Amino acid sequence: LHTMKKHNYSAGPCILPQEVFEKSAAAILNFNNSGLSILEISHRSKDFVAIMEEARALALDLLGLTGKGYQALFLHGGASLEFLMVPFNLMKENGKAAYLDTGTWANSAIKEAKAFGETVLVASSKPENYNHIPKGFEIPADADYFHCTSNNTIFGTQIKSFPETNIPMVCDMSSDIFSRVLDFSKFDLIYAGAQKNMGPAGTTLVVIKEEILGKTGRNIPNMLNFQQHIEKESMYNTPPVFAIYASLLTLQWLKNLGGIAAIEKINNEKAALLYTEIDRNPYFKGTANTEDRSNMNATFLLNDEANAPLFDEMWKAAGISGLPGHRSVGGYRASMYNALPLESVQVLVDVMQEFEKKVSA
Ligand code: PLP
Repeated sequence: LHTMKKHNYSAGPCILPQEVFEKSAAAILNFNNSGLSILEISHRSKDFVAIMEEARALALDLLGLTGKGYQALFLHGGASLEFLMVPFNLMKENGKAAYLDTGTWANSAIKEAKAFGETVLVASSKPENYNHIPKGFEIPADADYFHCTSNNTIFGTQIKSFPETNIPMVCDMSSDIFSRVLDFSKFDLIYAGAQKNMGPAGTTLVVIKEEILGKTGRNIPNMLNFQQHIEKESMYNTPPVFAIYASLLTLQWLKNLGGIAAIEKINNEKAALLYTEIDRNPYFKGTANTEDRSNMNATFLLNDEANAPLFDEMWKAAGISGLPGHRSVGGYRASMYNALPLESVQVLVDVMQEFEKKVSA
């Protein structure tokens, strides 16, 4: 069992593997027995260059993209900066890009792209408060790229099957990267803020198929230019050393566990355990359409809001943290990222069953 005191259901920043906390703490005090803290070493030092190289290589390795023309970068600025770096680097002058609107973050990406050119909305689930993933839409063949969000952190929906298209496919995987096996080579650009399945906030993983770059005719400022970052081996400017180090530790943890296939199995068990209870328990209801619901963020409501004070008191007493839902959905959101143990989900399910007993008594 995870040795931290709380069962952390936070949507991000969120729980990380216990060994990442322990190794990070040791590295803060004395990194590699160098007599220096990871917080004070130069990013140009041999030790850090090795960390950066390993992190970039391991990210590609875990995704099954080694040797397939991809580059991994650890950038600053969060996933939100990618909302604009993507169109800046991929949308041609007077070009257009296709977007799937599945939630708040997809919407933010669309808003940024509009500053660069025409955006085509292939479909949107906004009228139903994003409770499902639209299907059966067409992607224009003449768009410069198609952008989607694999997992909608706020609304608890997840794309289970990605569309086929001949244009470059870009995906914001911030909240489910490294959580399930996909054919990642279907994507030409993947980005993810570190602070869910990869590490602490402060760095963003960008995985790019290099051949899609350099086609826009735009003059791109260096800091926003993927090609620059590739040429400088992800060290164009001082990288967020600690966030990248802790991300590497998380990726190593995942690799040692057996990689994405191994964690996917556990993630499926966790999600099945919780969704079975949400569906069974007469006092709760899920908010997302069953076929689209996320294995990372389970969103659910009480059938009777009047019972909220009792339920809140009970899960807090059980040592659970971070359960309240996002204001756009209300209710509860249980974020079950890679590092959340199955035991923590069992604690929540037990609380839900106890709650049922109390309310029906
Ligand atoms: N995209 C998704 C799917 C997210 O869940 C989030 C944050 O939770 C973001 C983008 C924004 O990320 P950042 O805060 O790193 O800019």
